Amino acid sequence: MNSVTVRVPAKVNLQLAVGPLRDDGYHDLVNVFHAVSIFDEVTATAETGMSVRVEGESADQVPEDGDNLAIRAASALAGHAGRSYGVNLVIRKAIPVAGGMAGGSADAAAALVACNELWGLGLPLEDLMEIAADIGSDVPFALLGGTAVGTGRGERLTPLEVSGTFHWVFALAEGGLSTATVYAECDRLRRATGEQTPWPRVSEPLLAALRAGDAEALGAGLGNDLQPAAVMLKGSLARTLAAGREYGALGSLVSGSGPTCAFLAGSEAHAGELAASLKEADVARDVIVAHGPVPGPVPA
Ligand code: ATP
Repeated sequence: MNSVTVRVPAKVNLQLAVGPLRDDGYHDLVNVFHAVSIFDEVTATAETGMSVRVEGESADQVPEDGDNLAIRAASALAGHAGRSYGVNLVIRKAIPVAGGMAGGSADAAAALVACNELWGLGLPLEDLMEIAADIGSDVPFALLGGTAVGTGRGERLTPLEVSGTFHWVFALAEGGLSTATVYAECDRLRRATGEQTPWPRVSEPLLAALRAGDAEALGAGLGNDLQPAAVMLKGSLARTLAAGREYGALGSLVSGSGPTCAFLAGSEAHAGELAASLKEADVARDVIVAHGPVPGPVPA
């Protein structure tokens, strides 16, 4: 086999509960991940050496060297196998870059799956999950897909039971937000209020809404502790979120560390109407309709 193409979904966090700052600089999280139908595609072709080319949505903002998360994943997999494999990766991006939808982690997961196949390694998912956790805390979920709760730094995962399909609208912002900067702003805001940060807990009403496939209850249960920080850093998000609520979204939140905003709709038709209203209101660089949950990386 000379070439393998894998498509991999973006994620939105349905709940992101951020615990107190730990001594090692990280936070304990409760992170309900949900994979949605916005896909990057990664093609791995056998070659000597490691190289990567990035095309599509904001490709110019993605490194094309060893800093690219997909190349880091391929190198880690070759290291695990103990062989000096080579690969050329071509990434076609649709997931917004630095948008809080884990696009880089998705590409890393896709590279693991594609190279595992290309190099005929046949490693089981559990082995790929271990390599993924070393690359970044969102990469294990990107391998899994569906809907799952992550604890620790987000990397200890339990898949969740979900009924039916949920319909989403994503409002893409101009420019990205650095995840590290958003966490630092969250810490700063918390220091300023002086309130004790509670230990993060998964929301039981949210889990019940997912099990029941109840979009209205899910909308009411969405939550993101990073949202105040993201809105503080990018004031325009307040207007985008308000517009979504005004046009009848069942729930709205900043996705992960932002700046993409996610709006839950009651049906596919409702998502289409909501997207049209948001486009008309001119509160986003682009507006995308998607659904979830969807599976993790699959052959394209
Ligand atoms: P998260 O939701 O996990 O916090 P994000 O969606 O906000 O992440 P990414 O799109 O993953 O952000 O990109 C974050 C940074 O990682 C980018 O600014 C980019 O320079 C770098 N990066 C490295 N590899 C990739 C890749 N394959 N795709 C996108 N960004 C990458």
